[in-house]
Amino acid sequence: MPSYDVIIIGSGPGGYVCAIRCAQLGLKTACVEGRETLGGTCLNIGCIPSKALLHASHQLHEAEHNFAKMGLKGKSPSVDWPQMLAYKDDVIGQNTKGIEFLFKKNKVDWLKGWGSIPEPGKVKVGDEVHEAKHIVVATGSDSTTIPGVEIDEKIVVSSTGALELTKIPKKLVVIGAGVIGLELGSVYARLGSEVQVIEFLDHITPGMDSETAKVFQRTLKKQRLTFTLGAAVQSVEALKTKAKITYRLRKDDSEHVMDADIVLVATGRKPYTEGLGLGRLGVDTERGVIQTDAHYATNVKGIYAIGDCIAGPMLAHKAEDEGMAVAEILAGQAGHVNYGVIPGVIYTHPEVASVGETEETLKDKGRSYKTGKFSFMGNGRAKANFAADGFVKILADTETDRILGAHIIGPMAGDLIHEICVAMEFGAAAEDLARTCHAHPTYSEAVREAALACGDGPIHS
Ligand code: NAD
Repeated sequence: MPSYDVIIIGSGPGGYVCAIRCAQLGLKTACVEGRETLGGTCLNIGCIPSKALLHASHQLHEAEHNFAKMGLKGKSPSVDWPQMLAYKDDVIGQNTKGIEFLFKKNKVDWLKGWGSIPEPGKVKVGDEVHEAKHIVVATGSDSTTIPGVEIDEKIVVSSTGALELTKIPKKLVVIGAGVIGLELGSVYARLGSEVQVIEFLDHITPGMDSETAKVFQRTLKKQRLTFTLGAAVQSVEALKTKAKITYRLRKDDSEHVMDADIVLVATGRKPYTEGLGLGRLGVDTERGVIQTDAHYATNVKGIYAIGDCIAGPMLAHKAEDEGMAVAEILAGQAGHVNYGVIPGVIYTHPEVASVGETEETLKDKGRSYKTGKFSFMGNGRAKANFAADGFVKILADTETDRILGAHIIGPMAGDLIHEICVAMEFGAAAEDLARTCHAHPTYSEAVREAALACGDGPIHS
């Protein structure tokens, strides 16, 4: 019977990163994956393909709206949808092949097939049973739907179907104003669809700093996304080429009906652990979420879990960090994830990025804080690039000036957030950022100005 130190089930960002780190730390490692390609949801049907479509559709937006202003004249490009999908598939291929290469380079065995755990210490893949001192479950998550709505991936689609539509819909209705709904809604709005978002809450992006969420919603409205907030979708009826959506407005319980060519259901995801045999093994779960201790150990000896199938935000980078941490723990080191400094990014245009506390969580905790804010209107580079919408907001402790959180809506927000993450990891004060020289002209100067705004004031506003 083939025997390993560690077998990881699932090759998404949690699983493949864990496998590579285990191998780097000298553990004999295998990773089980049943999909044809490595990389899990993120690389195959999630982050990477959606970013390809966001990039392509943003280029179209630039050509349509900004080229002429810069003296670039000529007809705007038209959309060749099959070619755009082919480009997206090529990007997926390059990335998934990259993981295959990294597995070979690090001597990680890919056990091809769907894995299950017949008993602790054993992983079954197809007809073969492999022995492992440690098993890491990294099986990720799957789209969910809501009662009365059945996903057929043709007219009523999850994010997976939305990345494979046969044509650009005339009218797209998105259920759920979370990350998936807004990213994919933006793609289709830029490609010419009429996009209507229906959201249960009376604001978009639950959990986001509310001032940032309001500005974000205004920005998306300017991009022709329309919002019906405080509305609970009751049912979706898929007709031959259309769908009928029935929803109730929560304020007066009135019922309304809306048509769509395509309905995207983006109401959240749930842990995916089907077929592993966790119930039979007695692994503790709570509403499908695998319960782990601070070392990612489940209640069954030798079985660990990381990523979307355990508690915490369903983010690829959170899973990656947990993958590295558990590998280090299994190798006898002190693996650790700082959950207080996990950035969140929405890859619309402008991007929205956040880390740490929001004004709302600080108020709830009764913590006294100050706010340093700087608009991209005062940033020369942003003005030159038609990217002056948005701001950087830093929240710092009133007494100590220590940075507690940051929220950015603006150009490259998803990259800019990381200097604040590093600062927070080092327990920095806003003044530390303010005193750091930032190259001119860069978007990052807006971060420094927000840090200056926590003290004596920014220069350019
Ligand atoms: P989400 O939880 O972010 O948003 C779902 C939204 O649907 C919520 O706003 C909720 O109020 C709404 N909703 C629920 N039931 C409804 C109903 N009956 N009628 C109307 N609205 C309803 O979920 P998501 O956008 O599907 O994303 C799933 C997960 O994937 C999240 O954890 C997200 O962080 C992650 N993800 C992250 C990224 C990224 O980091 N860029 C990208 C994609 C997905």
